[in-house]
Amino acid sequence: MHIPDEIVGQGEAVRLLGREMASGKMSHAYLLWGPRGSGKMALARRLALAANCTPSAARGGASGGAQSGEDAPLRYCGECPNCEKIAKGVHPDVRVVAPEGDTIKIGQIREMKWRIALKPNEASIKTWIIDDADRMTEEAQNCLLKVLEEPPGDSLIILLSEDPGMMLPTISSRCHEVRLNAVGITELAEWAEAEFDIEPQRAKLLATLSEGRPGRVAALAGDDEYFKVRDRIISTVRRVVLCGDGSEALAASEDLLDQLKKAYTQAMDGGGSPELLEISSSMGACDLMAGWFRDLFILSITGDESLIINLDHIMDIRQDAARIEPSLLSRWAVKAMQTAQALRKSANPRLAMDDLFLSLALRE
Ligand SMILES: [Zn+2]
Repeated sequence: MHIPDEIVGQGEAVRLLGREMASGKMSHAYLLWGPRGSGKMALARRLALAANCTPSAARGGASGGAQSGEDAPLRYCGECPNCEKIAKGVHPDVRVVAPEGDTIKIGQIREMKWRIALKPNEASIKTWIIDDADRMTEEAQNCLLKVLEEPPGDSLIILLSEDPGMMLPTISSRCHEVRLNAVGITELAEWAEAEFDIEPQRAKLLATLSEGRPGRVAALAGDDEYFKVRDRIISTVRRVVLCGDGSEALAASEDLLDQLKKAYTQAMDGGGSPELLEISSSMGACDLMAGWFRDLFILSITGDESLIINLDHIMDIRQDAARIEPSLLSRWAVKAMQTAQALRKSANPRLAMDDLFLSLALRE
């Protein structure tokens, strides 16, 4: 497992938790919440490292990985046996509970409850990370509640959630909540450039497409398949807009849905990233189209290229923005968004895509 030296853009949360740890005021339970890819798991692992690092005096104490110096909260050495095992994901006292299928079941929380009550094997603080905690069944949540009511002294439970509102309020009220925000595009792009050794322009594109979520940047950085699917959707939509022909639009709709279906199946079989699965779904494709028309609209109204999301297609965007009326572009952006929403509510993909493509081709 790769533990980043730095948790990009979450300095405030790291400092807050670092201060609590340094002053011995750690809570028994934390709820780290924020959008997917905002760094919840990285921060949880960092907490586990800092809580259990036992550096030998000879090595000069905890250095905080790359973050040495005075302001190095949540420090760990990266070399002691605890650090090494946690980094490799094999520490017997640092565990992750994640959904099995769609949910986290009561059996998983019961096992945690039982294990956490035992003395730690090697660590000073048994650490359990519950990923996607909002997907616990109600029974599992009630079981967890009992642990949170009387937490064992040498334990740390860290819940990660995108949407804590989906959990029983009594659970969040027993946790110390830490919110992770989206990271600024400039900061994220600078980080991506160094972290993945990529061109500044590419780094900016990834940061923009990721909407400020470092985990998403990391997933996209090496995902060529994602960009292939994305380019296919963009080239299809550009063609349909310019064809001016209803039957050609319907054929393009059928063809695109076929290709998306293949890409989705391949991604499922090959363990593709959530980003790839998303863009290969009909709603993900419609979200992309909405963003595409938004780019065209913004450029034609403001002329400001710094506001563009699909930066790698700037030439296409300039060209299309110049030849389509802004009022049509804004209508199409809304229509693509509404189509995505309808698909999320189980609309028929073929009918929905046909309808959208007809509007584009016939300039409605
Ligand atoms: Zn260590």
